[in-house]
Amino acid sequence: MPTDIAQLEKLLSEARNIVLISHFNPDGDAVGSVTAAYHYLKMRGKNPRIILPSTYPANMSFLEPEDPADRIVICETERGKALGLVAGADLLVCLDLNRLSRTEYLEEAILSSSAPKILLDHHIAAELDRFDLAISDIKVSSTCELLFRTLLQLPDIASDPGRIPLRCAESLYVGMMTDTNNFSNSVFPGTFDMAARLIARGVDKDGLQEKVLCCYSVSRTRLMGHMIKDSMKVIPRHRAAYMLLGNHDKKRYHFQPGDSEGFVNLPLAIAGIEISALFTENTEGGYVRVSLRSKSKVNVNRLAVRFFNGGGHRNASGGRLYIPLEEVPAYFEKALDEYSDEEKFS
Ligand code: 5GP
Ligand code: MN
Repeated sequence: MPTDIAQLEKLLSEARNIVLISHFNPDGDAVGSVTAAYHYLKMRGKNPRIILPSTYPANMSFLEPEDPADRIVICETERGKALGLVAGADLLVCLDLNRLSRTEYLEEAILSSSAPKILLDHHIAAELDRFDLAISDIKVSSTCELLFRTLLQLPDIASDPGRIPLRCAESLYVGMMTDTNNFSNSVFPGTFDMAARLIARGVDKDGLQEKVLCCYSVSRTRLMGHMIKDSMKVIPRHRAAYMLLGNHDKKRYHFQPGDSEGFVNLPLAIAGIEISALFTENTEGGYVRVSLRSKSKVNVNRLAVRFFNGGGHRNASGGRLYIPLEEVPAYFEKALDEYSDEEKFS
């Protein structure tokens, strides 16, 4: 057994109250990885609980634990409960985040906890030294793929996907499917291998796809049309396109968390467009959320780090801007002007 897996097995076997945490604005991989870990640990007779810093898209709610006592705790709305869980944990596991600051309000509580801390993540430049055990690999599609590989190596699963609980397998599939934009980016040979083995395990691929990807409201679909037709701007000299999503449009189209999922990918379908950005005004104000995507030869991670207070992956990154939405177009153009070819094609 590799040493990190032996150490993981030791930490899991010694703990009972295990708290699973993912990042602010959780996406499919965040929800998939924490719920997959939950269902696996439940099978082991542990007492796992999940905390997310902010609410998650409604189309993921079927992944939630069945037991009402184990429902996902959203820190933004139940801060006391979340902090109590962290304080009472004898093991903390962070999934799908590279920096503890991505847990927002939980960072301090995590740091002051004396419980051992584990990281399982697939982002660039993870803060490995802030954890007792860090399982980090950027050559996988998703945290869910990394978790799948990790589970297979544990003694009770013993390389047999048939021993993974079905609900855990479903969560793993959903995280991988959403982080790859349904097998269109960040796909490695191991990703198809994982999909094949999970389907053989009994995961209903078509059913999950319908639940997660064909779940939007009429108003979300109209918002998407509005974004492409009225919001998208093209900057030909940078082979870039961007869209702004302000609070006015959110209100007009009855915006729900998760509704803008996938919007940022749309301009990349245009021939010659290599960088796409979506700037979303935070509902409570205060900042603009940044989503960046690129075609394979262009690096947007460095763009996110240098100009947008963020990071992520080479072709999919995010961050924040603390300026009014109206000032974003000029800021974005200036950032692209200053972003050297050396950084862009690194
Ligand atoms: P998305 O555009 O889907 O929100 O995020 C794309 C990728 O960028 C995700 O892998 C996510 O983890 C990363 N990301 C998004 N926002 C931030 C951020 O504020 N900071 C960092 N470091 N990464 C981010
Ligand atoms: Mn991920």
